[in-house]
Amino acid sequence: MGRTVVVLGGGISGLAASYHLSRAPNPPKVVVVESSQRLGGWIRSVRGPNGAIFELGPRGIRPAGALGARTLLMVSELGLDSEVLPVRGDHPAAQNRFLYVGGALHVLPTGLRGLFRPSPPFTKPLFWAGLRELTKPRGKEPDETVHSFAQRRLGPEVASIAMDSLCRGVFAGDSRELSVRSCFPSLFQAEQTHRSVLLGLLLGAGQSPQPDSALIRQARAERWSQWSLRGGLETLPQALATHLTNRGVCILRGQPVQGLSLQPEGRWKVSLGNSSLEADHVISAVPASVLSHLLPAEAALLARALCAIPAVSVAVVNLQYHGANLPVQGFGHLVPSSEDPGVLGIVYDSVAFPEQDGNPPGLRVTVMLGGSWLQMQEAGGQGLSEQLFQQQAENAVATQLGLKESPSHCLVHLHKNCIPQYTLGHWKKLESAAQFLADHRLPLTLAGASYDGVAVNDCIESGRQAAARALGTEPDR
Ligand SMILES: Cc1cc2nc3c(=O)[nH]c(=O)nc-3n(C[C@H](O)[C@H](O)[C@H](O)COP(=O)(O)OP(=O)(O)OC[C@H]3O[C@@H](n4cnc5c(N)ncnc54)[C@H](O)[C@@H]3O)c2cc1C
Repeated sequence: MGRTVVVLGGGISGLAASYHLSRAPNPPKVVVVESSQRLGGWIRSVRGPNGAIFELGPRGIRPAGALGARTLLMVSELGLDSEVLPVRGDHPAAQNRFLYVGGALHVLPTGLRGLFRPSPPFTKPLFWAGLRELTKPRGKEPDETVHSFAQRRLGPEVASIAMDSLCRGVFAGDSRELSVRSCFPSLFQAEQTHRSVLLGLLLGAGQSPQPDSALIRQARAERWSQWSLRGGLETLPQALATHLTNRGVCILRGQPVQGLSLQPEGRWKVSLGNSSLEADHVISAVPASVLSHLLPAEAALLARALCAIPAVSVAVVNLQYHGANLPVQGFGHLVPSSEDPGVLGIVYDSVAFPEQDGNPPGLRVTVMLGGSWLQMQEAGGQGLSEQLFQQQAENAVATQLGLKESPSHCLVHLHKNCIPQYTLGHWKKLESAAQFLADHRLPLTLAGASYDGVAVNDCIESGRQAAARALGTEPDR
């Protein structure tokens, strides 16, 4: 009888793992178990009354690097090339990103020349921060917060304005708590290898082998900064699900995994309430904290390491306006915590993907709310009502973008614990989890946003690597 691999979680990580398992030369029997009726996890696209697309989770995927190229290869293999909406390098959404500081929008400098120009809100051209960086000695700690790292190397302004905003934009997190080693491994490695981050980034980490396809070549030639899919990014998990079903993968929806236990012969029993599954190997693509509650008592040490990986919530407010115009054209803007503790940033969805504006077209923006403001609201158990989030978002759009009219359409979603936080020392949690799995030879592999990167590309890569491990082959990097 062939081997059975059970994949926990039908988000993009679990679906990507199943995709790679199902394409192996001798594929095992694959069963995906998803607690909700819908696949895709945080990737969710909703159509408005005029046909406009509203992304409740991710809205753009970066094509850069080996991981970006591998995702594009998968897109082509799924037959989605004609659905891809690229943001080309010469487009305003690729060129302009803004910071909202001191009550005004400031465009971030781009290119070498931009570094020599005065660039408010920074008091001096960023060239000076770069010069300072080149002269600073290598850090000695095995890890450091993003804020401390940026302050030491680039100065207090870059730390408290640029890196603070970036951590809010990518992780909805606090740069004073997040780990530079785990959140920005290329910056950490550049300093370790070349003493200077700038030198390290200029000299490069060496090219990893990249796949090739017509779509990848097009993305490179046109210098895409990101891409989406015509019907929204949820088209990707939907296409994966169809592909998996056609390849004989069994997908169980509406079935929350309730526990894992080890059988005497070393196989897993996966409990699903009234029924159970047996597995030779389990790939967990559910959040680390969820898995920590599913593990058997023998794996208490592993559970402890996993439940120490926290996550934060984000309230996503999608707004559409008819007859309104943005004051600037770009990808969107970020807001440092010193400016507003609750508004992480606003994405100008219509600039990047006007094809999704519906008919009649209307301006779409998304306000991301989170940070210490949301944490306080959650801790205080104060009425976390949709009205509160909508009001907060409309105020932000009025103050920061000057759009004072009422939106024609509004969607409000509070995503609880949606973004894992790689806090200082995250690498030690991963090491102790890996050590436990190796010492006990547990047929269990971890995948998903909780570990090595939260971006969609990182999650897909974690699924690919988990599949290779479950198959007993070394994943190529
Ligand atoms: C608001 C927001 C905006 C984002 N924007 C971007 C962006 O623009 N670009 C980008 O690259 N990334 C972005 N990200 C990050 C990225 O979308 C996520 O990190 C990624 O989708 C996570 O995928 P995952 O499969 O690891 O986890 P999840 O999506 O969390 O999937 C886990 C799955 O497991 C299921 N599950 C949970 N418990 C159980 C159980 N007991 N039994 C069975 N199933 C269970 C869940 O229902 C879920 O389907 C964003 C994330 C958020 C929240």
